[in-house]
Amino acid sequence: MIIDLRSDTVTRPTPGMLDAIMQAQTGDDVYKEDPTVNALEHKMASLFGMDTALYFPTGSMANQAAIKLHTQPSQQLICDKWAHVYNYEGGGVSFNSGVSCKLVDGHRGMITAKQVLENINPPDFYHSPLTSLVCLENTTNKGGGACYELDEIIKIKKVCQENSLGLHLDGARLMNAIVANKEDTKHYGNVFDTISVCLSKGLGAPMGTVLIGNSLLMKNAIRVRKVLGGGMRQVGFMAAAGLYAVEHQVDRLEEDHKKAKQIALLLESLSYIKKVEPTQTNIVIFYMQEDLNQEDFINALAAKNIRISDMGQGKLRVVTHHDYTSKMHSVFLDTLTAYKH
Ligand SMILES: *Cc1c(COP(=O)(O)O)cnc(C)c1O
Repeated sequence: MIIDLRSDTVTRPTPGMLDAIMQAQTGDDVYKEDPTVNALEHKMASLFGMDTALYFPTGSMANQAAIKLHTQPSQQLICDKWAHVYNYEGGGVSFNSGVSCKLVDGHRGMITAKQVLENINPPDFYHSPLTSLVCLENTTNKGGGACYELDEIIKIKKVCQENSLGLHLDGARLMNAIVANKEDTKHYGNVFDTISVCLSKGLGAPMGTVLIGNSLLMKNAIRVRKVLGGGMRQVGFMAAAGLYAVEHQVDRLEEDHKKAKQIALLLESLSYIKKVEPTQTNIVIFYMQEDLNQEDFINALAAKNIRISDMGQGKLRVVTHHDYTSKMHSVFLDTLTAYKH
């Protein structure tokens, strides 16, 4: 038994999902003739109360396409210093869109409306890049699964409207935030211009992210996806997995959150742990006491077939997910308790 807590991307399709994949009707999606992809896109757009959605192979590609839709080369976007679009998409912001990032020193990956306002370059001051987009992340990845308050997002939207800025949400784990805070998808559709939602994280599909937005802005999305090499043919088999995930595997995220909170609670009580970040969803970030060797700890877990992530700067990360069973959970908790440093 391997207990893989490195990420919620490691899940395999459930039996129900495999059935859905096997029974999918497909067609050539580059001609927009794949009925299952079309159904998934329609479902996601209406779930968020927006006009259109487009299926992408990865979350990075969906975010990169969104940034391209919102910006022109030489312009600047505003994001938190830990943002996935800045740190973990291979420099795509500059490669694909010729855009720079103004990094904000936020709290656990989240920024405020005040910070957004302070970081907008004056539009008439032609020496500095023109600010044209704000990218938020919910939940935050490097911020330990932290969730925004909807009120703050609405304030950020107001700043964007007053300054003619687009507002994109990297919602790789948006469903985790919505389940944890009992929110309504439509609230997000109302506020953001574009939203990316990963189907391959906690939702458990093998691949795929949907970019959702309103038709005026999204008109060019299919061309941008083609340029990035993301036009796919009979991809309805994978869209079927995504549809299944959205229809059957959203509510169970609550289970992942419960396990994550139990892990966090135990870690807080252990003498070899210095600090645990507040745990709101399925990500637990924690730090060992400074005089202890982090690598020894990771290796000791690995020797027991338990895998966790080292995020650098002393951050250790555990992510709960569908394939992390209750049995694995008790083995992991027992192993943490028994660890001798
Ligand atoms: C996983 C993730 C993505 C997308 O990653 P891909 O591996 O390209 O699908 C985007 N944003 C955040 C915050 C993520 O955690």
